[in-house]
Amino acid sequence: MRNTWRGYNTSFATCEKAKNNDMSANDKSNTPSTAATGSAPASNFIRHIIEQDLQSGKHNGRVQTRFPPEPNGYLHIGHAKSICLNFGVAQSNHGQCNLRFDDTNPAKESQEFINSIKADIEWLGFQWSGEVRFASSYFDSLHDFAVQLINSGKAYVCSLSPDEAREYRGTLTSPGKDSPYRDRSIEENLDLFARMRAGEFPDGAHSLRAKIDMAAPNINLRDPVLYRIRHVEHHQTGNKWPIYPMYDYAHCISDAMECITHSLCTLEFEDHRPLYEWILESLDRDSLHAASDSAAPAADYVLPRQIEFARLNINYTVMSKRKLKELVTDGHVNGWDDPRMPTISGLRRRGYTAESIRNFCERAGVARSAGVVEVAMLEHSIREDLDAAAPRAMCVLRPLKVTLTNYPDDKIETLVLPSHPKDESMGKREIPFAKELYIDASDFEEIPPPKYKRLSPGVEVRLRGGYVIRCDEVIKDASGMPVELLCSYDPETLGVNPQGRKVAGVIHWVPAQQALDVEVRIYDRLFNKENPDDKNIADYKECLNPESLVVLQGCKAEPSLANAAPESSFQFEREGYFCIDRYDSNAEKIVFNRTVTLRDSWAKMSS
Ligand code: ATP
Ligand code: MG
Repeated sequence: MRNTWRGYNTSFATCEKAKNNDMSANDKSNTPSTAATGSAPASNFIRHIIEQDLQSGKHNGRVQTRFPPEPNGYLHIGHAKSICLNFGVAQSNHGQCNLRFDDTNPAKESQEFINSIKADIEWLGFQWSGEVRFASSYFDSLHDFAVQLINSGKAYVCSLSPDEAREYRGTLTSPGKDSPYRDRSIEENLDLFARMRAGEFPDGAHSLRAKIDMAAPNINLRDPVLYRIRHVEHHQTGNKWPIYPMYDYAHCISDAMECITHSLCTLEFEDHRPLYEWILESLDRDSLHAASDSAAPAADYVLPRQIEFARLNINYTVMSKRKLKELVTDGHVNGWDDPRMPTISGLRRRGYTAESIRNFCERAGVARSAGVVEVAMLEHSIREDLDAAAPRAMCVLRPLKVTLTNYPDDKIETLVLPSHPKDESMGKREIPFAKELYIDASDFEEIPPPKYKRLSPGVEVRLRGGYVIRCDEVIKDASGMPVELLCSYDPETLGVNPQGRKVAGVIHWVPAQQALDVEVRIYDRLFNKENPDDKNIADYKECLNPESLVVLQGCKAEPSLANAAPESSFQFEREGYFCIDRYDSNAEKIVFNRTVTLRDSWAKMSS
């Protein structure tokens, strides 16, 4: 039995145990599945902590998590890991997960980002509990709690300039100095804070700071700023507030107000945890309870616990919103959902399925120490998914005309091919076969290298699902490039091997008259260095791969694809997995994005 389930759902654990008492840790067959992931999640240290808390009754049997994005960019695959973790642990423990926008920095935030984040989470297959939350909807309470801290002598208004404040803060190796404003009276602090709130002062004139310890080894505890003056309009609260709370201050109180039990965040917040705890411990528990969602009596009110895990890093990728934004605004990519971006919307547009992303996050695991995951593992996840789910089709990316000289001029046969070699339920597709065809230019060599398995003069190959053909003559243009192959076909070879001759190989093809003219976008990695953030590289943009996008026009696809829906995926035989672009495809022109090639380096590495 999986650890995650033991203890909380005792009845389940007992009955499963009775049925099957030798289940190995890897056996997923008897473990209940979560709605979104479809398979049971592996245990990890966070699930273990939650399980212990459930056992000890610490949170009265509740599991309440939250996903707290700042709406200052689109979500990336790193966020997907946090989403899968937060929603996943809630789901498998009969808990809830909130979606809360941490919108305390309005200058960088926008409604566009809010909309995209909600859409991405839903697309990933998760549903937040109740309404979407906003830290900004707690601004009144956050303000009241700040007044409470001033009243209890735990916060003061500081009037050092930002430069002076930096100087007073000290360094990692030297302690800070007390601000000369640290001992202002409570009355003076209340008055100044009220005037900050009333908008009397310009940006940066004052700040509200916690009174903790300027000599603390942890710099986060050196009287951190709780509120700053910012005369900026907010996307939710308009011009109501000229002061905004800092993230560290707003986050822990928002968690407490939403009765979050486990506040999961990435490792860079580890040093902020003492501040998280200091703020909550410094506030009056009853007033926190009163401001919270809690329906339970005050005596049962428990403060949230922050737990850190390692952020997801992937090689050949950058994963900071700031850099992703720069790629967009400087035009290195075509928007946040460019299929080369590691954003959820980019991956979706590239042809990744939600399931493949969830599986990838599960496979990447949740650890306490930082590491880098191979991008090949992400690619493996989508191949695995599409190998089973994507119908097969033929598409010629670089068409070379083939004329079958011995095929009757007006004859058209209809060949019937399975849509999937291993899954009959996916049905069949029809492909017309006629005198003029296209094959891929890369499947022909006039002077073939040794062991060449494709077409060359005098050599026979099989057309996938069709006849065996032989190249008799090459027609070239003025520059010597082959423009047409005159071939003959063997009418006895449909589904039958020729007697006494060996065929070099099998190549794909499409009928020339009936093929669809399509655009194919060949995507490659956006960066050509394994670690674009390497400190020896002056600027990560130096590592941009100039060939990350190659657009092929005039590709020829089999006619069965004519009515395929946007976002549907296919395996183009011998080429890779491709999906129909959700925005740029229309009735006139189908646009395919290459999701991934066929060759799976991760499966090989890990086997
Ligand atoms: P970035 O550093 O990429 O700009 P962020 O941490 O500022 O991202 P937020 O919107 O604050 O972005 O993140 C929302 C949640 O997602 C946070 O809890 C954060 O810890 C988590 N998160 C962000 N990046 C990753 C990552 N690479 N791996 C796992 N979780 C992440
Ligand atoms: Mg952040």
